[in-house]
Order: sequence, then C-alpha cells, then structure tokens
Amino acid sequence: MYQVATGSLSPGEIAAPLRGILGRQKNTQVLLGEAVDIDPKSRRIVLRDGTTFDYDSLIVATGSVNSYYGNDAWEQWAPSLKTLEEALRVRGKILYAFEAAERVLEPKERRAWLTFVIVGAGTTGLELAGALAEISRETLRHDFRSIRPQEALIVLIEGSPRVLPPYPEDLSAKADHLLTILGIQVRKGVRVVDIDRDGVTFVAGSERERLEARTVLWAGGVKASDFGKRLASRTEADTDKADRIRVKPDLTIPDFPDIYVVGDLTLASRADGRQMPGVAQVAMQGGAYVAKAIVRRMNGSKEPTAFRYFDKGDMAVIGRAAAVANIFGLHVSGFPAWLVWLFVHLMYIVEFQSRVLVFIQWGFQ
Ligand SMILES: Cc1cc2nc3c(=O)[nH]c(=O)nc-3n(C[C@H](O)[C@H](O)[C@H](O)COP(=O)(O)OP(=O)(O)OC[C@H]3O[C@@H](n4cnc5c(N)ncnc54)[C@H](O)[C@@H]3O)c2cc1C
Repeated sequence: MYQVATGSLSPGEIAAPLRGILGRQKNTQVLLGEAVDIDPKSRRIVLRDGTTFDYDSLIVATGSVNSYYGNDAWEQWAPSLKTLEEALRVRGKILYAFEAAERVLEPKERRAWLTFVIVGAGTTGLELAGALAEISRETLRHDFRSIRPQEALIVLIEGSPRVLPPYPEDLSAKADHLLTILGIQVRKGVRVVDIDRDGVTFVAGSERERLEARTVLWAGGVKASDFGKRLASRTEADTDKADRIRVKPDLTIPDFPDIYVVGDLTLASRADGRQMPGVAQVAMQGGAYVAKAIVRRMNGSKEPTAFRYFDKGDMAVIGRAAAVANIFGLHVSGFPAWLVWLFVHLMYIVEFQSRVLVFIQWGFQ
C-alpha cells in the first residue's frame, strides 16, 4: 500500500479481484454488497439494499477502519492507507505537494509544501516515512528545477516514548537509527491535538507546537468496522476500546456457536495470555482454522478445538534496503532483515504474475 501511495507500485501489481482468486473454487460464490445488520436469533444477515441472507454458520471478517480517536474531522486533511482508494489519494497528495512547491516562490510557503508529517510510528508509519524519504532523496531528485526534492522535511510523530512500540526495545532503537540515517525527523512522546488544512498542532511535554505542513498522513491506528459494532450490540458481546469483539478460544462469540469472528475485528488471547495482533497472519490463519472447524462440526464433531496462532514474527521496512525483524525471537536489522521482508511479502502476493513484477520493481529499480 505505501508503495502505491509513493508511486513505486501500481494498484494492479498488489491487488487481484476476489472473483478471480476464487474462480476455481466452485463451492464459493462472490456477491457485492454491504452487510449492515444481523439478527443472530433467526440467523439472518441484512444488506444495505434490504436483501437478506440466512446462514447456518457465519464468518465475520469485516476488519478495521481508521481511528482518528474521536477527531473524525482530521480525516479530510490527513488521509491514511487502509484501502487502495486511500493509497491513491495519498499518492496524489504527495506528488501534488512537490509540484506546488516547484511553483511557489515565497520561502515559508514552499517549506510548508515540502514538509511531510506522518502521525503514528507503527509499522505503517515507518514504511510510509521510509518510502517518502526514498522518493524525495532518490526518485525525484533530478526532476525539478526550482526545488531540491531531497530537502523535503519528513517528520514522524509518535505518542509513545519509542517508535514501533510493540517491538522489543533493541529493534525500536535500531529502527529509530535507520530513520535518522534517512534524514527523517522522529518526534516521540508527542500528542497531536489538531490537524487542519495548513498543518498540525501537537503537545510535547508542556509545550504546544505548530508545524506548517501541507501534507499530513495518518498512520495512527484502527478501530473495528461499523458492522463489527452492530454485531457486538446484537449479540451483546464484550468489546475493548477499539470495539474489537472478545471471542472464545474457538473464535465464536459467547452463546453464539454459529458466529465466528476472524482477523482485525477479533479480540483474542494467545496461549501465553498476550493478545493476538492485528496483522494479516492472524487473519489468514484464523480464516483457515474456522473453515476446518465448520467442516468438523458438519461431520458431527461436538468438541471444538482452540485456535492456535503460529507467530512467524514481525517485520517493518524502512526504505529500500533497511528493515527490522523479530523472527522467532531472533532480532535482525538492516539489509538482511530487508531481504527476509522482501521474500516473505512476495510469497503472499496472490498472483504469480504480480509476484514477478513486484520483485523486479523492488529489487532492481
Ligand atoms: C497500510 C497497511 C499496511 C499493513 N501491513 C501489514 C503487513 O506488512 N503485515 C501484516 O501482517 N499486516 C499488515 N497490515 C494489517 C493487515 O492488513 C490486517 O491485519 C488484515 O488485512 C486484517 O484482515 P481482515 O480480513 O480482518 O480485514 P481486512 O483485510 O480489512 O478485510 C475486511 C474486508 O471486509 C470488507 N467489509 C467491511 N465491512 C463490510 C461490510 N459491512 N459488508 C461487507 N464487507 C465489508 C472490507 O471492504 C474489506 O475488504 C497492514 C495494514 C495496513 C492498513
């Protein structure tokens, strides 16, 4: 997504239509529609156009949406990367900023166009900051006449005292160092209090600061999708502050053994008591587990087994040849981590043709 947002990949290279992916799976039908309500007692789903579907088993995987922590008005000034459409909007915004800076003569105004603020130093924020540094320092460096794109100021703002808060401390420190090498300014322990058309206001300690920036991008977090909230209220399920639904070890909602919840919408614990993270691996493994659980139940099994998440590790990429990774407790950083990241992500791109194209783009351009 962040590579689409910074113009190094096109949408077709990273996304494929569901209908095509499932084309050969004859017991699957894909229908376009938005689920807006559910009646769990009569086992019925309601779509926005009023159509209803009855189910025997229901798998809800409606994921998450951006969370602006109650400040939804910020969204218009600080788009995020949750969907391909948003990634394209971000791309337009970034490239327009360089174009506007090229035309503006007034130094303060030009500086504001060349200032890019990313809110949130989790994986997405780091990836975005790294890619922005790359296009401004490398890709665009010879393309303008009045401005020097490599002088773009990239500021990464994080509320916690360190970047990549869920990662081990040594990897956070390595990531911080890699960001600094790329010339990215990292502001930690800083709380954003306002975002508007012209920039961002934040509080650092007891100081209130203002940064004039025409491009502010949001990587600040997610919350449950609207349908997830509706499902929780209809089933009276327990939720956390991000509205994720607490499920039983077999990923069903308590008292509703026919409703499974998987992926980002789920609030579930691992065997060691830690919460499952909102990453693709959890969603994919949860999906596969639930499919098997339903088949087992149809075959007459009464005792559900618990979902066990197999954690293959965490990775964050910072620019083209640098990353940090925690693989089965092994902490890797720099180029080796980037190579691991490259191959792991390529493996999971759905279409073989895209895999080849993306490999060429990432590896050689
Ligand atoms: C920019 C970005 C980068 C990321 N990078 C990584 C990464 O490198 N590695 C990693 O492991 N994870 C990454 N993640 C997280 C990962 O994408 C999620 O954990 C994963 O997609 C969750 O899968 P899901 O099926 O629960 O939800 P999603 O993938 O969000 O899918 C939910 C789907 O449900 C649809 N939907 C929602 N509401 C309705 C409704 N009411 N009716 C019908 N359809 C509906 C949505 O349109 C969407 O297609 C990243 C996330 C983002 C935003």
